[in-house]
Amino acid sequence: MSNYRPVKVHISTSALQHNSKRARDMAPDSHIMAVIKADGYGHGMEAVAEAIDGLVDEFAVNSLDDVLRLRDAGFKKPLTVLSANLDKASLSKFTELETRATIYDISQLALLEQIADDQDLSIWLKVDTGMGRLGILPDEFDVVLQRLSQINGLSEISLMTHLANADQADNPENLNQIELFEKLAAKYSFKQLSILNSAGLVAYSQSAKDITRPGILLYGISPSIGKSAEQLDLKPVMTFKSELISIKRLAAGSAIGYGGTYVLDQDSRIGIIACGYGDGYPRHAPSGTPVLVNDILVPLVGRVSMDMICVDLGEISAKVGDSVTLWGEGNPIEVIAEYAQTISYELCCGILPRVERIVE
Ligand SMILES: *Cc1c(COP(=O)(O)O)cnc(C)c1O
Repeated sequence: MSNYRPVKVHISTSALQHNSKRARDMAPDSHIMAVIKADGYGHGMEAVAEAIDGLVDEFAVNSLDDVLRLRDAGFKKPLTVLSANLDKASLSKFTELETRATIYDISQLALLEQIADDQDLSIWLKVDTGMGRLGILPDEFDVVLQRLSQINGLSEISLMTHLANADQADNPENLNQIELFEKLAAKYSFKQLSILNSAGLVAYSQSAKDITRPGILLYGISPSIGKSAEQLDLKPVMTFKSELISIKRLAAGSAIGYGGTYVLDQDSRIGIIACGYGDGYPRHAPSGTPVLVNDILVPLVGRVSMDMICVDLGEISAKVGDSVTLWGEGNPIEVIAEYAQTISYELCCGILPRVERIVE
């Protein structure tokens, strides 16, 4: 992290709070387990937790390391580790740290069967209803439940599944997964049931069950194909900014940047911006990717370098030192992701450590 380079990532506390309220509005009768894994999707885990601690019910992370960080920072809410490499030593930590482990593979039962009778462990059982990733299979369900029911040190079992296609609201696979989950959930009594991530919450809020698991929407990013954050009344939390460090006039025919992949077809002004793939700007963003300069979107031109990008300023009013927005407020991250042929998740998680983060 450097304070001297102009590249900064601004995190809006009020936008986080607004989006958390939106998640609540979408399923007012369900609890919210706010997903803050991957350092709060690159926004800063503790800062995110701090901003929304009073607005959500629980937090979900991806490792006991994250749990330790949150407990060290004083957060008291129930926590869940969504995936974990369990062993004997880590298992006892879960009770101690009031954290639920997720059990997703039948091989993990052997370990659970060794826990002390007075452990008081609370777990999520994850069932794979069609995602094809983590989760016990439906045909293992009865055997797993029978074995779990014999473990005295296990105090509570909740059941979750994960939708594979919730970003496509009309994909019939979603309802197949939900129906299968409901069928399985009805066979035993569970402490809590959970199905929906952000995209699920947007499209299938009627299946919100006891607790929802929004991640990306809390950060003000649309989880759904064909729906913008604005249409969903979500506000961008991360704004990635830098400055113009040079402006030059170049003649028609001039080539810009490494490999000369972009050639000016008319005389123009080229702006050089201090930000590159060494900061987390996607190297594959092509010429044409929008960059916001003084409230005007101008196109990136030429290849993205490690520390710099170039834009075609044309004749817009701009001078060295003017601030630019790479994504965020006024320049949606979803659009940049589309240009770079990736997803917003990858962009926000990909901000590199040398970029200073400013929580506002
Ligand atoms: C990451 C994750 C979520 C959150 O997903 P979003 O698409 O960011 O809302 C929810 N549930 C599980 C199991 C996850 O791994």
